[in-house]
Amino acid sequence: MKIMKTVAGILLYIWQLPQNLVGLLFLLVLTGETRHRLGSIRFYFLDSFPGGITLGEYIIVGTRQQLTVRHEFGHVRQSRMLGWLYLIVIGLPSALWAWLGERIAPMKSYYWFYTERWADRLGGVER
Ligand SMILES: [Zn+2]
Repeated sequence: MKIMKTVAGILLYIWQLPQNLVGLLFLLVLTGETRHRLGSIRFYFLDSFPGGITLGEYIIVGTRQQLTVRHEFGHVRQSRMLGWLYLIVIGLPSALWAWLGERIAPMKSYYWFYTERWADRLGGVER
C-alpha cells in the first residue's frame, strides 16, 4: 500500500502545483532557512523572514511559535482543498489584506479577514 500513498502524494502535489512552484521558487531565492517539524507539520524557519507565508506544501516562517506554525498549516489545508484555485481564493486576497488591511479596516484584527479566520480554524488555533 506504500505505492498508493506515493501516488496520492504526487497527485496532491500536482493538484497544488501553482503554489508549490512559487513555494519552491521562494526557497531557491531565500538563504539560511532551516527545516523543522511540529508534530506532523513540516516547515522552514528563517530568522529574518517577516511573519509567515504558505505556498502549497511549503510553510516559511520567521518564528517557531506554535500558534504561527499551526495557523500556516491551516493555509496548507486550504491549499489541499482548493488546489489550483488557492492563489486566487486565498493567496492574492491574503497578500492584499496583509498589505492594505490596516488602511482599509484599522479596527479589525489581521485574523478577522476570511482567509486568516479560516486558516486559524483549520489549524486549530484559538485567539
Ligand atoms: Zn495567514
